[in-house]
Amino acid sequence: MKVDVCLVGGGLCGLMSAHTLNALGFSCVLLESKPELHRKTDQRALVLSYGSCQILKQLGLYSRELNTWPIETLNYSFKGFWGAVELKASNYHIPYLGQVMSAHDWMEHCLSVMDLPHTYCSACPQQLSLGEHTHHLSVTHEKGPIDINATLVVGVDGTHSWVRSQCQATLQTDLNDAAALIIPIEGAGPNTWIRNSALGSLAYVPISASNGTLIWTSTSNTIERLRNHRTRARMMQSIAGHRLTPDQTRSPYTACYPVTAQITTGRLPEGVILIGNAAQTLPPVAAQGFNLGIRDCAHFLSHCVQRRLEGNSLRMGLNQVMQARKPDIDQTYAFSLAAFQSHRWAHRIGPLTSLGLSLIHHHPTLTRSRIQSALGLMPPYHDLLKGQTLASWKKALESLS
Ligand SMILES: Cc1cc2nc3c(=O)[nH]c(=O)nc-3n(C[C@H](O)[C@H](O)[C@H](O)COP(=O)(O)OP(=O)(O)OC[C@H]3O[C@@H](n4cnc5c(N)ncnc54)[C@H](O)[C@@H]3O)c2cc1C
Repeated sequence: MKVDVCLVGGGLCGLMSAHTLNALGFSCVLLESKPELHRKTDQRALVLSYGSCQILKQLGLYSRELNTWPIETLNYSFKGFWGAVELKASNYHIPYLGQVMSAHDWMEHCLSVMDLPHTYCSACPQQLSLGEHTHHLSVTHEKGPIDINATLVVGVDGTHSWVRSQCQATLQTDLNDAAALIIPIEGAGPNTWIRNSALGSLAYVPISASNGTLIWTSTSNTIERLRNHRTRARMMQSIAGHRLTPDQTRSPYTACYPVTAQITTGRLPEGVILIGNAAQTLPPVAAQGFNLGIRDCAHFLSHCVQRRLEGNSLRMGLNQVMQARKPDIDQTYAFSLAAFQSHRWAHRIGPLTSLGLSLIHHHPTLTRSRIQSALGLMPPYHDLLKGQTLASWKKALESLS
């Protein structure tokens, strides 16, 4: 099988890339190691920034039918310290800071608009041989072995990326003893809040006017202790008792995810690119992981369209795509890591924390940069599709033939 692009990994970023490439007429194959792409058991409530929603709309992957909830206000505070940051969309003349949706719903929507039979293959690649013009992948499939020759190989295969290891890319890991607990809560109101404390970070993301999800992120040891419902209720009361009723603190958890922070360093071989969690995995406290992945995809897709319009090889300038993404990735990575680590040192330098929060809250320039970052609209990453949509790209590519 000869294709323009072989996508290894059918998660959130893999689906987004496969949908767009396929719709634009690139030949591509999507390999997913799990038997199916649907994730009925995925409990995550995804926070998508305003900028991410715009990109998904432009690519036809965001519909009114999706069950989403707008974030209009965000409160951020530390237990035990004065000072808090409150971000309000209305103060900045924007409709919302972001939208919350269930990861499972979004994947279902993606699959409903995709032309899957032509692209999807439930299979695991065994070997990657790098070539001058095409890369060769040997794949085991239940119906027998498949050979794929691809101009580009895209590693969208998550935190433990196989593509990354085949390329022997170096990896910097900053966090490997953390975990997150997902706790659905009823009747907790319409606003988003994050409360940091020595016991970790407790983030509430509403998914309707009254219901939502609590994401408790902390060290693995603390999360292990929190699996006990009595301990959890007591700790939740102590951190966020002013926001949650005793009944709510007794809600059972539904899922537990390991959490890490890692970032790929160094250069990849020609014709290989890493996107999303394969390139960088962020702790979920600042809710930036998929948002960063969406921006990676947007930039990569824009590159493919540009090369095709010029009549050049898709490989040309691929390394520059990753170089151009670096400042955004480094900045978001550092911000997400700091958000996770902050509870560890907050209690030691409490007055500075309070001062920092107050400064951000009362200083319009600092608040503006927080807003821009929360919205995913930090220049120059606010227009990665360069104003184009799936339809306008299609039109431009069709005019070539
Ligand atoms: C608790 C929690 C809450 C989160 N909340 C948010 C949030 O609010 N906002 C946000 O922006 N982000 C959030 N994230 C992060 C977000 O989930 C990730 O950034 C996102 O899933 C990354 O997508 P991906 O496609 O790169 O990787 P993944 O979604 O991990 O997909 C990788 C896919 O590759 C497949 N795969 C792996 N190895 C192979 C192989 N060898 N061959 C073939 N297939 C393979 C896997 O089966 C998987 O389907 C959260 C994460 C967690 C854990």
